[in-house]
Amino acid sequence: MSLVIVGSLAFDTIETPTERRERIIGGSCSFAALAASYFTSPQIVAVVGEDFPQDFISLLNSRGVDTRGVTHEKGRTFHWEGRYGDDPNQRTTIRTELNVFQDFKPLLLPDYAAADIVFLGNIDPDLQGEIRRQAQKPRLVAMDTINLWINTKPEALVRVLKEVDIFFANDEEVKMIAGELNLIKAGNTLLSMGPSLVVIKKGEHGALLMGKDFMFGVMAYPCESVIDPTGAGDSFAGAFLGYLDQIGSFRPEDFRKAAVYGSVLASFTIEDFSVERLKGISDQEIEDRFQALKNLVSF
Ligand code: AMP
Repeated sequence: MSLVIVGSLAFDTIETPTERRERIIGGSCSFAALAASYFTSPQIVAVVGEDFPQDFISLLNSRGVDTRGVTHEKGRTFHWEGRYGDDPNQRTTIRTELNVFQDFKPLLLPDYAAADIVFLGNIDPDLQGEIRRQAQKPRLVAMDTINLWINTKPEALVRVLKEVDIFFANDEEVKMIAGELNLIKAGNTLLSMGPSLVVIKKGEHGALLMGKDFMFGVMAYPCESVIDPTGAGDSFAGAFLGYLDQIGSFRPEDFRKAAVYGSVLASFTIEDFSVERLKGISDQEIEDRFQALKNLVSF
């Protein structure tokens, strides 16, 4: 099996109630690829500018991530700035500088185009659509997005939605796209727009998986220390798809386990800024949290 991840490699500036960090490593692709790397060896497609550190690319390589699909362009790397209030589920985008993303034309290398699983991580939906068209015969296509694209490119977003199997989004985004305040009704509306599975992320309240005849809820791992929630969603999706790629099977019971691994990897991401915690987790730590989540809901 093989997994291709398309998304952003970025600099993030993050403000939490207690700290501000400038231009730290971020991006949907960074978090998703690192989380997936605990289960499989993902191939990534992204673009960086001249200012992006080679050290991070080397770190990805050391975790088995194939970075041949990363394009290096003249100019500056994508930069996103976000602020969290006292409630870590509430964040405000302060700034989005597309920079090298502005003229990016993503291209799947021939061996990437044959991938079994394609993850269209959060980037411009027009770029997601281009990648979707280049994938030859994927067994599973998943996508994610962010409110910027729901507000600025709704038609393009709806076009990509028609061509994917799994849609990852947070509860607010699902309600926005569906134009519906009730989460379950909104999830069902999304299911009528293309995907056969909608994964609704609810921050510290976990995630809800909705299929046509299937529903599953997973808790967030109870973390005492939440330093920076950025990348939790991408880590969830990366681990979810990385696990499916490892086992090569897409039954409802596989989606349940994938969601628990998603929740586990997301719980590590939020314990530090950027990818600091995510880059060095042991298999035992992952299994311990998987078991703890299982125990938490068994009765
Ligand atoms: P998450 O917290 O999982 O929703 O993902 C946050 C990450 O998404 C940050 O590291 C950002 O760099 C990245 N990001 C935010 N906005 C965009 C955007 N418009 N396009 C691509 N990546 C983005």
